[in-house]
Amino acid sequence: MCRHLGYLGPPVAVGDVLTRGEHSLRTQSWAPRDMRRGGTINADGFGVAWWTPQEGATRYRNPAPIWTDPAVDEVLPQLRSTSVLAAVRSATVGMPVERSACAPFVDGRWAFSHNGVIPDWRRVLPAVAQEFGADLTEAESATDSAALWVILHAALSAEESGPGGKVRSTGVRHRRTLARVVRRVLDQAPDARLNLLLGDGENLWATSVYHSLSVLAVDDSVVVASEPYDDHPRWQPIPDRQLVSVSPRRLHIESLDDHDFADS
Ligand code: GLN
Repeated sequence: MCRHLGYLGPPVAVGDVLTRGEHSLRTQSWAPRDMRRGGTINADGFGVAWWTPQEGATRYRNPAPIWTDPAVDEVLPQLRSTSVLAAVRSATVGMPVERSACAPFVDGRWAFSHNGVIPDWRRVLPAVAQEFGADLTEAESATDSAALWVILHAALSAEESGPGGKVRSTGVRHRRTLARVVRRVLDQAPDARLNLLLGDGENLWATSVYHSLSVLAVDDSVVVASEPYDDHPRWQPIPDRQLVSVSPRRLHIESLDDHDFADS
């Protein structure tokens, strides 16, 4: 069910993030180790976002399997960034296989990926969208993930005007907003699988709801990934229903269930 990966640290070659390790994201596209219910390979396209000071989040996507795209070895290694967010896709049954359905979804400085599924999303998400003032007709593709991105983006845009918005640091606000959206979707669809990955070029936030997630924090870099890409001893498996927040030199892991949303 899709695999994704986020990097934050010193500048790296964007292509390297897709191919590093004997179990790289590219390898995970055809030989994933921890697919839970549904899907065996991730062959319905891929995407990668990186950041530039001028453009914010910039992205490349292809609805073909990642192993067929020569840009991964020939073009993407020439780009460098201090943050990278990438995903390989296994389309949920009934959802379109097209470029616009491939994560990352980007807007301004934001990049977003969803590993999972929201059962009955067409019925469930309009209520959540209404709560956050999101217009689901803006979704890039007719998928749960694209619709969820519209909701999360609306929530992130609105958060400053909410109670408590001004008194909290930006990082705290963003992770509360992410947690709140996850909680609202789970209220409507308790079986939803919601491994989300969000980046703004300077931070990463990830949730584990049903699917696998691991973190590698070494020296001055942090990687958050659906599956470890190598056998480095510092990979840390993240338990279910956690929210992981990464900023330079800081890794924070908290339970989605304990999170205090009361005044958000
Ligand atoms: N439901 C999403 C899609 O179809 C994500 C799929 C997945 O995680 N495999 O794009």
